[in-house]
Amino acid sequence: MSDTAGRLTDVASEVDAWAFALGKELDERGENLHNGSPADSDSRFAYERMGAAGIIGLGWPRDLGGREMDPVDVVKIEERLGYHWLPLCGYLLSVKTIGNTIMKFGTPDLIARFIPDATAGRIMFCQGFSEPEAGSDLASLRTRAVKQGDQWVVNGHKIWTSSAEIADWMYLAVRTDPALPRHKGLSVMLLDMHAPGVHVDVHHTLGGGTFGEVLLSDVDVSADNILGEVNGGWTVLMGSLDFERVTSEKVGVALWVLDQLDEVAERTHRRSLLALRGELEACRRLGHEATRLIANGDRVSRVSSMCKLSVSLAMQKAAALIVEILGPQALVERGPAVRAAGRLAAFHRSSVSMTLAGGSCDIQRKVIAQQGLGLPR
Ligand SMILES: Cc1cc2nc3c(=O)[nH]c(=O)nc-3n(C[C@H](O)[C@H](O)[C@H](O)COP(=O)(O)OP(=O)(O)OC[C@H]3O[C@@H](n4cnc5c(N)ncnc54)[C@H](O)[C@@H]3O)c2cc1C
Repeated sequence: MSDTAGRLTDVASEVDAWAFALGKELDERGENLHNGSPADSDSRFAYERMGAAGIIGLGWPRDLGGREMDPVDVVKIEERLGYHWLPLCGYLLSVKTIGNTIMKFGTPDLIARFIPDATAGRIMFCQGFSEPEAGSDLASLRTRAVKQGDQWVVNGHKIWTSSAEIADWMYLAVRTDPALPRHKGLSVMLLDMHAPGVHVDVHHTLGGGTFGEVLLSDVDVSADNILGEVNGGWTVLMGSLDFERVTSEKVGVALWVLDQLDEVAERTHRRSLLALRGELEACRRLGHEATRLIANGDRVSRVSSMCKLSVSLAMQKAAALIVEILGPQALVERGPAVRAAGRLAAFHRSSVSMTLAGGSCDIQRKVIAQQGLGLPR
């Protein structure tokens, strides 16, 4: 990709051409179409290609490898990347969520150590929040970090860790002071996934992907790798959830699904398809508004949660329409009857996970009720 100023229309056409070529390359690798779902190795492959093409960190400063694009324009590009059906898991974790969080809360040293490598597609992150006893109630997490000299020594158990087996670094939530109230004794640190004491088990999902279960036994983390303040992790965690919950790329994926359905839909289905397009346009605008608020440093959680909730619900409707319009054969995953290379079936299977990933729909409603409408806890 050229280094000219990041004008949306120019970058968008470059990204379209690049994404089309990458899609072909992934198809030729033959791994992109495991029942229509991208494999994790494809996610790493796509991420490295994105780095080489200059698509990572489009909104970040030029001296860190970025293109200084307007943050809302970056989100519009992410919508297009979703539409191209690329395996974006590596990008979404490493750049959209964790990279942006490092840019927001990191010291100059942390930014210099991690961001240029991320922009080049050389390092990937995973996110270590959830634990067997801590999902929606994140503040109850038990993974413990104890300070010993210049190091923190970490012990704990993380689950549902997307991309754990292909990531180089974990963006990790730990308890650093159990004596403080739950939300106040937490910190965030960057942990080397190749360090001694890190063990990853891989579990396969209904959606065709994988989850990591990560056991941490006496893992050393340098004190320099704390992101934000020691015991001030809650602010960082909430900040990264705001980035994560702007799920605009999923809007792109759902629009692609509607385009496929438009081609075969009977007249009776047109109203439902149109109504869903309207909902997706509202989702897009919520994503843009949340991004503007984040960029201005304003309170955003109620809007990012509205975006996440609306996109998750719209995806359930799109999945239901696939079956309503195409019938049960839409869910055929192999053989000559398979449609759209199995992608509609894969979308249907994995869409339900959106009602949990990044915080469940109930939790989004809770944030909207409390932070948006001022309702009591
Ligand atoms: C595709 C996918 C990818 C994921 N990737 C990661 C990852 O990379 N890293 C990571 O750390 N985690 C990841 N997760 C885990 C995800 O963050 C959790 O699944 C989610 O936060 C819910 O936690 P839980 O599964 O423990 O469910 P629970 O918290 O046990 O919730 C169970 C049910 O109870 C409801 N509930 C819980 N509390 C309340 C409440 N206060 N009010 C109303 N209803 C409530 C929930 O809505 C849900 O329906 C991923 C999950 C999915 C599905």
